Amino acid sequence: MPERVAILGVGLIGGSLALDLKERTGAEVIGYDRSGEDLHFAEAIGAIDEGKTDLEQAVKDADIIIIALPVEKIKQTIDSLCQLPLRRGCIVTDVGSTKSEIVERARKLKERGITFIGGHPMAGSHRSGIKAARSLLFENAYYVLTPEPDIPVSDVQRLSRLLYLATRAELVIMDPVHHDRIVGAISHLPHIIAAGLVNQVGDYNESNEWFHRLAAGGFRDLTRIGASHPIMWRDILLSNRTQLIRLLDDWIAQMSDFRKAVAERDAERIEFLFDRSRKLRRQLP
Ligand code: NAD
Repeated sequence: MPERVAILGVGLIGGSLALDLKERTGAEVIGYDRSGEDLHFAEAIGAIDEGKTDLEQAVKDADIIIIALPVEKIKQTIDSLCQLPLRRGCIVTDVGSTKSEIVERARKLKERGITFIGGHPMAGSHRSGIKAARSLLFENAYYVLTPEPDIPVSDVQRLSRLLYLATRAELVIMDPVHHDRIVGAISHLPHIIAAGLVNQVGDYNESNEWFHRLAAGGFRDLTRIGASHPIMWRDILLSNRTQLIRLLDDWIAQMSDFRKAVAERDAERIEFLFDRSRKLRRQLP
């Protein structure tokens, strides 16, 4: 049966999901955003059937609610949804880049008989907003769902089926804490490292502009993600704080290992560290 889907936040991720749902499922898609202009644009490109700037109006009668707002706003919106009359049997999910904090916050919805299944489509871009949205953005990417153990299997299957049909992504089920540790290591920590490196070289460049002029291939490749959205990344780091403190400690230990080897002219150790890295990098799928 075609579903009525409310997408809260019609930006890069929400807009792309909306396009996918409209193009490949029979779903009716209602968009909610603070920006009326973006909603008009989303309607014009056929991503949504109708746009609302009022949350209650947007989620009224929805079978599925997808919260595609910045992480901090996802938490606030879960609180707001607890106060609104939602359709019986409605499933709420989100697309936030962190999961433990959001899943914990959503326990309140469960107390109201509403199923919440955390989600994270693992594709995207450093661009933002509806104008950057595109159909099949998540094709062949992993799409992680983090249902709590007591969520009915039928609800997980219903949501997975709709998301697969729409996005052609590979749905995987994962514990929210494991998700945050893994994504912390492979995405959040690299964003911190890129930003740190760009800022360090930026400091040097203030007294000698050749630092930026000579910055080419390797520096540009490694720091591409250093140009990401500051507010989004502020929220992600604060939301994945526990994991990131551990990961940063491990990173500092890695750097200390390199520092010691260089300081002690330990050629064997330096070669070992790069050799290990080359082998591991080549094994990446
Ligand atoms: P975005 O900025 O492109 O879209 C966010 C949308 O939310 C915008 O349309 C904005 O107008 C709207 N919005 C923001 N604050 C609002 C508010 N207070 N009330 C109503 N609407 C509001 O951001 P995005 O990249 O689509 O990210 C959305 C979520 O997706 C984030 O939680 C992020 O962690 C997650 N995510 C992002 C990526 C990525 O690569 N960008 C990948 C996977 C998941």
